Amino acid sequence: MKMRRKSDLPEKPCRQCGRPMVWRKAWAKTWDEVAYCSDRCRAEAAKDRSARRRNAVRPGDDPAGPREAATDDRTRPRRSVPILE
Ligand SMILES: [Zn+2]
Repeated sequence: MKMRRKSDLPEKPCRQCGRPMVWRKAWAKTWDEVAYCSDRCRAEAAKDRSARRRNAVRPGDDPAGPREAATDDRTRPRRSVPILE
């Protein structure tokens, strides 16, 4: 039989760093949406996501075309404009 611990709170791994996050009262309303343990992980994940999106070809969202896109990353400095979702 399993002992029920005093700290029997929900727990899940951070999607970015994988460290376990324990339920916090501040997350009571958003626990299902909480995916990252910190703002830093959230920012890192957003960076990863946008980097992946740059390489992924989505139908109807390919302004430069495949040939131009292939050289785009190497020839142009990466601009640090905020990505608006
Ligand atoms: Zn994390």
